Amino acid sequence: MKIALVTGASRGIGRACAKLLAKSGYRVVLASRNLDKLQELAREIGEAGGHADAIVIDMGSQESIANAMAAAAKDFGRIDILINNAGITKDGLAVRMKPADWERVLATNLSGAFYAIQKVLPAMMRERWGRIVNVSSVVGEMGNAGQANYVASKAGLIGLTKSLAHEVGSRNITVNAIAPGFIETDMTQVLSQELRDKMVANTPLRRIGTPDDIAHAVKFLVSDEASFITGHVLDVNGGIYM
Ligand code: NAP
Repeated sequence: MKIALVTGASRGIGRACAKLLAKSGYRVVLASRNLDKLQELAREIGEAGGHADAIVIDMGSQESIANAMAAAAKDFGRIDILINNAGITKDGLAVRMKPADWERVLATNLSGAFYAIQKVLPAMMRERWGRIVNVSSVVGEMGNAGQANYVASKAGLIGLTKSLAHEVGSRNITVNAIAPGFIETDMTQVLSQELRDKMVANTPLRRIGTPDDIAHAVKFLVSDEASFITGHVLDVNGGIYM
């Protein structure tokens, strides 16, 4: 049974990915800062006949990532699939952005993903098999006013994905990114109705995406059917950016 670690599995897109991967026969390691929520999800997955375990990780801390990955390696032997999904926003215009807001977003969304990758790669290289999926964003491709920190982190993930795909392809490890459009989760809950309506009007498929829309793309990219796809950025955005 292949083992998939999903960061940010407590809510939203990560939760949907973890549930779908578990349903598809993977053993899932659920990672985020909120152990209670992860354990609740692990129970839910178990009751549905799947296999899931919870570990605490703070993707903004190199030390926490190292500890969590060491614990995962000890408990599960190896991680075959890494879904770097955890992410935060701290929006504001660049001219007034606080250094702490810049640094926190870059540390969590980009550096955290990189350090997690560094921890799982040696075993994947030994096994000559691995799948890494980085959850970027449509704004990482097109830019967005008020989100310089977030957009830089998401564009950074795309560069990281492509560079890594070059580095580890010969070991049968694929590295891809998904760029979601507007998805209904806690992250987008704060946006006004007016902005939502505008977003939907600008989306050719005329709806907001669901966490499951992203989970299905993740499931495909980690499958054997996607074994010749690497360094790709898969847009799952209803056509809002092409
Ligand atoms: P969400 O509902 O806000 O969930 C964020 C997840 O990330 C939570 O599970 C949270 O878990 C985890 N997380 C945040 N900071 C963390 C940290 N320091 N360490 C570990 N886990 C952390 O967001 P979402 O919409 O599902 O977003 C998931 C990913 O998709 C993010 O990378 C986001 O940038 C990206 N995305 C979302 C959209 C959208 O429209 N929603 C669009 C494009 C891209 P805890 O709080 O339990 O730690």
